[in-house]
Amino acid sequence: MSRLQEVYLGLDVGGTNIAGALVDKEGIIVKQVKLPTRAREGQDVVVSQMCRAITLLLGHAEQNEFYVQGIGMGIPGPVSVKEGISLHSPNLFWDNVPIRDIIQQQFSLPVAMDNDVRCAAIGEKFFGAGKVAKDVICVTLGTGVGSGIFINNHLFRGFRDIAGEIGHITMNPRGPKCNCGKNGCLEAYVGAPNISRRAKEAIFNQKYSVIVEMVNGNLADITPEMVHRAALAGDELAKNIIQETAELIGLALSYMANLFNPQLIIVGGGVARSGEMLINPIRDTIKANAMREHGKILTVVPAQLGEDAGMIGAAWLLNAD
Ligand SMILES: [Zn+2]
Repeated sequence: MSRLQEVYLGLDVGGTNIAGALVDKEGIIVKQVKLPTRAREGQDVVVSQMCRAITLLLGHAEQNEFYVQGIGMGIPGPVSVKEGISLHSPNLFWDNVPIRDIIQQQFSLPVAMDNDVRCAAIGEKFFGAGKVAKDVICVTLGTGVGSGIFINNHLFRGFRDIAGEIGHITMNPRGPKCNCGKNGCLEAYVGAPNISRRAKEAIFNQKYSVIVEMVNGNLADITPEMVHRAALAGDELAKNIIQETAELIGLALSYMANLFNPQLIIVGGGVARSGEMLINPIRDTIKANAMREHGKILTVVPAQLGEDAGMIGAAWLLNAD
């Protein structure tokens, strides 16, 4: 009695961990593995960790009579989807790594790749909060800030696969230096380390905040999660940081709303764990700044899949185009 079920193998390669999964056609994870990336030990070690994760999942598939259709990989940093190359990945210490061919040579399965943020967006679009709409923008707020733009159910990649870089929209040309080398990008304000930095600066410039006690005076230890907890406890300084963060994100999203006229904007990533405290003022700022016609019909919702979005979207890459 065979129950040969079609599944897809997705890898979400992060700077710290490689998360891998077998995912069925409904986007349900049927098996999951997690291995350390060991990025600092060099490219060969990372590749062998990826191969280990794939081998573990293929072994499970064989034992359980799952039929693996292909492998998808989410890689941090800019990638060339067409050529299968990781162009530059600061998290993995990679430059111009032809990772798709490297993996394809090891396993006789079709292999696809994309940037990790777009994989998370694909996961949310097709299996999470985005299922209900065709024109969707899915923004991920983490260490980096990025988005996936879906037009009539298709991911819009652009000429060189780098569309959707909302994190590098300039909010202030004289603002703080961004990781991309430019100044005053959205990410330079609302990327996770920059939320911590702004909280630290506010504490230096202002008065009391409960955050100082939370880190025992070590301001270098401030995380966005602490800012969120402090805001929940009523801390004014923390509430201001979150309000300002939401306004900047909302402003950038209002530009996206005017340009792409989405039905739905999904907000996900670690920073989005602040929930309605962040999403409410994002909504208000979009409504206040996008053209009235856009603001009226646009819905802004939190992501549903959490950290699983990246693996699920990676698994779905072979079907997404
Ligand atoms: Zn930038």
